[in-house]
Amino acid sequence: MRDHSEFVAAFARKGLYIILPFILNSCFIFGLHRNDYNPAKPGKYDEFDLETKMLGAPTALRTGFDVTFYQLDIEIYPDKKEIAGWVEIGAKALTEIDSVQIDLASHLIIDELRWEKRDGESLNYSRTCRAVFIKLPSVINKGQSFKIQVHYSGKPQIATNPPWYEGMVWKKDKNRKDWIGVTCESDGGSLWFPCKDMTSDEPDSAEMRFTIPDTSLMIVSNGVLTKSEITEKGKSVTWKTHYPINVYNITFYAGDFAKIEDTYIGVDSQKLALTYYVLKSNEAKAREHFKQNHDILKTYEELFGDYPWYRDGFKLIESPYSGMEHQTAIAFGSQFTNMYYFNNDYILVHESAHEWFGNALTANDFADIWLQEGFATYAEALFFEKKFDKAAALNYMLFDRMMIKNKYPLIGPENLHYFDPKKSGDAYIKGAWVLHTLRNVINNDVTFFSIIRTFYNENKYQTTTTKEFIDCVNRISGQDFNWFFNTYLYRNTIPVLEIENEPNGDMYYRWVNVGEDFNKMQVCGQYRMPDGARDFKIYPNTTVAKFKVMSILTKDDIKYSISEQNSSEPIIPLPVYFHANFLYKIKQNSRLHKIYLKQGGN
Ligand SMILES: [Zn+2]
Repeated sequence: MRDHSEFVAAFARKGLYIILPFILNSCFIFGLHRNDYNPAKPGKYDEFDLETKMLGAPTALRTGFDVTFYQLDIEIYPDKKEIAGWVEIGAKALTEIDSVQIDLASHLIIDELRWEKRDGESLNYSRTCRAVFIKLPSVINKGQSFKIQVHYSGKPQIATNPPWYEGMVWKKDKNRKDWIGVTCESDGGSLWFPCKDMTSDEPDSAEMRFTIPDTSLMIVSNGVLTKSEITEKGKSVTWKTHYPINVYNITFYAGDFAKIEDTYIGVDSQKLALTYYVLKSNEAKAREHFKQNHDILKTYEELFGDYPWYRDGFKLIESPYSGMEHQTAIAFGSQFTNMYYFNNDYILVHESAHEWFGNALTANDFADIWLQEGFATYAEALFFEKKFDKAAALNYMLFDRMMIKNKYPLIGPENLHYFDPKKSGDAYIKGAWVLHTLRNVINNDVTFFSIIRTFYNENKYQTTTTKEFIDCVNRISGQDFNWFFNTYLYRNTIPVLEIENEPNGDMYYRWVNVGEDFNKMQVCGQYRMPDGARDFKIYPNTTVAKFKVMSILTKDDIKYSISEQNSSEPIIPLPVYFHANFLYKIKQNSRLHKIYLKQGGN
């Protein structure tokens, strides 16, 4: 997904990671790319198409019912790159309704729509983009359960570059055996099966039956295997989840797999079945490579709470694409390679974290996708902090920071089915940095990790919002952090500390590019005089403030430094993007100095 680690690690191994920030900041001193990384105005999203708008819209036809169950029964035809089957949508009316909207990619054919059972009454419907508007046979009262059966077929969209350009992946392994999968995080489950394609609505459980003509293949899906049979159509297998699942996580893999079984003993001594399905030629490699899962799972259990899916197990399936967090059936396509120096597999560290943040706790709207991707990315760093130390974790994050774009606020547009990691990885990287910064501002790890655990445990098995996270932060910390989130989540401009020095020693400073309430952000400064360093604290606000230094500033003997001393605990809370030591030389001829509180690219 993001091939950053080897570069960072090369520095780390040579003990040079302290230097990296200097290199990054040297660009800042020369003013390179400043505008690229500090946009003055929010970027403008392209006009959203009708399908994106309709898929995200919480209309009465969608919010009037809650999906409780999906049952998929799908035949897979690799030769024709087609699928055909039934999907039963079990639901409960939340208000009195007589029509509903479900979703299905417009190029897939609805053969029949039936009420309650497969041979039930035929239902009338109309289609616009992916929306399927269904007229129910009668008014359904609030609280009443009902079922809709969709018989459909066709050629689902083929992924051109999975998991970024999504859809079906029809591949062959070295022995020309079919190797198939599907990925649809941002495009949505309705890319290949009929569902209510809203992240806010998760079924309580799902059952998936898949049939494939080649009986020698294995088919793996989410949850536990409940049945496997040979029929006249080939091999049919049924999988079932015991937990809620978001629709983009419902998936399958077909391939000529070897099955490897292992057991993990959880921190609460529970036994968790680990099952790996890999191409037969990779079995020996996989047995060795996947040993690291024990450490990864243990660390996340210690940090966040128990693994959320003990009944459904933990599975990795070798996939014909790099990776995806499919609940209890993670797509593993990293070629069994560990990151240099950090010596773990990125896909395992990242996607496993999603079992907590993304799968168990899910963003209610793609606008809040940082709750999944930012948390999972920060989990990677926390894993390395446990494995090595804090400096290594920070180092792991530093290279990423250069790739923060800040083109748009981290919180995306609401009520649109929109998440495009191809355009910006900020949900991942900036999301992680916001959490790291929050941790520094709170300046108390007991409180910070209590917030993360509480937020997770209060929201697991359901969807949640950024607002609920902010409320949790404020409640657990006993402070009001809205000023922090207003700047780092809802604005894309990065805070700038402006300092102006006069020849007589007066200095003026203020924050710009921030909200009115940002004056709670403190910065610690340090002057380095010929006779040694002097520390001071400044509390800039959004209006101009002033302080006086004792000596006249001259060109050579004054350097300005804002530091997290020795890369250890910050001496006082520090703002985002501002973690490593750097020296800022005050130029004699320039009295106004702008310190951009972001090192990304600077
Ligand atoms: Zn992810």
